[in-house]
Amino acid sequence: MKRASYDYIICGGGASGLLLALQMEADVYFKNKRVLLVEQQQQRSNDRTWCFWEKKPGILEEIVFHQWDHAFFNSPNWESHFPMAPYRYKMIRGIDFYTYAYKKIEACAGIDLLTAQVRAITEEKNGAVVTTSKGHFEAPYVFSSINTPERYLEQKKYPVLQQHFLGWTITTPTLTFKADEIVFMDFDIPQKNTTQFMYILPFSPNKALVEYTLFSPQLLEKSAYEKALKEYLNQKEIRQYTIEESEFGCIPMTAYNFDQHNSTHLLHIGTAGGWTKASTGYTFQKTITKTQALVAFLKQQRPLNEFKVRDKYNFYDLLFLDVLSQHNGAGAQLFRTLFQNNTPETIFRFLDEQSSLWDELKIMRSFPKRIFVAALLKRLF
Ligand SMILES: Cc1cc2nc3c(=O)[nH]c(=O)nc-3n(C[C@H](O)[C@H](O)[C@H](O)COP(=O)(O)OP(=O)(O)OC[C@H]3O[C@@H](n4cnc5c(N)ncnc54)[C@H](O)[C@@H]3O)c2cc1C
Repeated sequence: MKRASYDYIICGGGASGLLLALQMEADVYFKNKRVLLVEQQQQRSNDRTWCFWEKKPGILEEIVFHQWDHAFFNSPNWESHFPMAPYRYKMIRGIDFYTYAYKKIEACAGIDLLTAQVRAITEEKNGAVVTTSKGHFEAPYVFSSINTPERYLEQKKYPVLQQHFLGWTITTPTLTFKADEIVFMDFDIPQKNTTQFMYILPFSPNKALVEYTLFSPQLLEKSAYEKALKEYLNQKEIRQYTIEESEFGCIPMTAYNFDQHNSTHLLHIGTAGGWTKASTGYTFQKTITKTQALVAFLKQQRPLNEFKVRDKYNFYDLLFLDVLSQHNGAGAQLFRTLFQNNTPETIFRFLDEQSSLWDELKIMRSFPKRIFVAALLKRLF
């Protein structure tokens, strides 16, 4: 079996594969290294938008499509308009990111791009072998963002919820939206024993992305998402609108131990590596942070399974998901008490996994004690 050798092979050229390649491209340490990026899709479409919060201009500032300084949290019993400061809420369109990243990577002499399907990755003594539809390749360091949902769907130890959503970018003939304020979560919709809310990103007073999001175990029929969006728009007296674009998505929410599938020569990255924040589904900003840490780690030439992903935040996420999966209708109450009892800055710092112990105590105190203590005891014993 003839194999081409590389220093690093990245399987999957989506968000995490491209972010890792971009970090390598920008770092002189990798100047004389040979990198192979294998991606199955020939053409990229605008298949998703990424939103995240950030304090300063970040590494992708030049492709940020829109950003906001104010947000609104709404629930039947309580509401809050708040400034995002010191953060800004940002949105990057998938197509802009793919165009930007592939252009940079194509221009980089050390990175080869291969359009092929990865069929297997096998560990050997001195490296891993990647078998693709276009041949075999080997490297001492292989990264894979190819997700294998069966791994977490076919186990019982960790609950798995899905964050599933349908978003419509709509235009209206009248001035309808507050253009400088996102609706971060609007729980003032029928909960039907499920955590569900609306999310609005306005681009102008008459154009916005309106998204219906659920955190629950099962997906719905397509018509149910559409019905909920129509009812919400009607409830908001938005009756005349044109749907310009539509985005459906599903993100796994689980504290499953993805690390166990890593080995000396193979590291899973992105959603496949457990880089999706289990309690919120946010992945993009965390992937930027993780790929930065990974590039620094690679310079130490240590076994890849020593790159640890799990920490105390996995345990917090696990408890939250334990509670949310057992009391799926309690999401509105949990998020309301979170926002009622903590400043947005503390909440975003906690979700960014940069909180102090004091922040964490405050966050924990804001949740209903009984169900969280029961979940904690169940996990501990
Ligand atoms: C619609 C949508 C919207 C989202 N919005 C947000 C958001 O606003 N904020 C946020 O933080 N997160 C968001 N996420 C979650 C997360 O950021 C994305 O899913 C992100 O793309 C995950 O990156 P990844 O590299 O793990 O996977 P992907 O970006 O999906 O990349 C995996 C790549 O592997 C390729 N691949 C798969 N199998 C093979 C194979 N056998 N051979 C070769 N290539 C293969 C795929 O074609 C793909 O390009 C969203 C997710 C979706 C689906």
